[in-house]
Amino acid sequence: MEIRKVGVVGAGTMGNGIAHVFAQFGYEVILVDVLEDALSRALETISRNLDRQIKKGVVRAEDKEAILSRIRTTVRMEELADVDFVVEAVVENEEIKKDVFAKLDEITRPEVILSSNTSSISITKLSRMTERPERVIGMHFMNPVPVMKLVEVVKGFLTSDETVSVVMNLAEKLDKVPVLVNDYPGFVSNRVLMPMINEAIFALQEGVADKEAIDTVMKLGMNHPMGPLALADLIGLDVVLYILNVLYSEFKDPKYRPAPLLVKMVEAGKLGRKTGEGFYRYE
Ligand code: NAD
Repeated sequence: MEIRKVGVVGAGTMGNGIAHVFAQFGYEVILVDVLEDALSRALETISRNLDRQIKKGVVRAEDKEAILSRIRTTVRMEELADVDFVVEAVVENEEIKKDVFAKLDEITRPEVILSSNTSSISITKLSRMTERPERVIGMHFMNPVPVMKLVEVVKGFLTSDETVSVVMNLAEKLDKVPVLVNDYPGFVSNRVLMPMINEAIFALQEGVADKEAIDTVMKLGMNHPMGPLALADLIGLDVVLYILNVLYSEFKDPKYRPAPLLVKMVEAGKLGRKTGEGFYRYE
């Protein structure tokens, strides 16, 4: 089946970026959210990000309107009845995602592949909510989606090789670099990244060094473009805590226990850039 029309469920940070790249590369997109507000904000963000790409010479100015016209927004998931592929990008909450997968299974044609952009939830568990577990897969885009090249393609225990091959090809058509991984907690990206961020928070908590010093060591010493504390602020400290808790509970290994300072900051509502303050302050 040729993929032409794509459903994107969830129009937040990741969903708008995913809708953006599919439309940029010629796909028709139906972008779904439960909130009208999220949909209008998503369209504004996409328009702004297209302007940025035009300035950089990545997108031609005369293509902007055509790209935007390929994205239709709706609060009714039933409108995904005729899509050829789905990417789910709703909030990182297992119960909500399970519910969305069960609904998608009812609404979409049985041959359609259902993918999830989850950062940490088991693809195998989500696949069991459907009658087509062999056509459920992880398509883990990185933030910001229009800029970052990597797509971590996550093969669930029941995902078929054919599904993997369709999704690897699809990612390449979006000018991304797909990397295939198996469905273990945190996949590769967050299994490696989150313990590093957590260790940086422990170092800060123990007074090994101040935040600027910790970030500078990792930037200049390890050639990372951002220090781990600044990166945690960008990702959102609530998201970091959520993923560490998934690693901790799934592996039952204390090495993944979240730093108490991280827990306190989340309790205090200091979630990073999105709330104006995390380890750093933002205007
Ligand atoms: P977000 O909070 O910005 O957006 C989530 C959107 O989902 C919201 O607009 C919300 O209204 C909508 N939503 C909630 N329930 C819904 C439902 N039942 N149906 C339709 N829409 C619903 O979250 P985000 O940062 O875009 O994250 C989305 C997914 O992407 C998560 O699984 C997250 O783990 C993953 N992810 C996030 C990042 C990141 O850096 N933010 C990176 C990679 C992957």
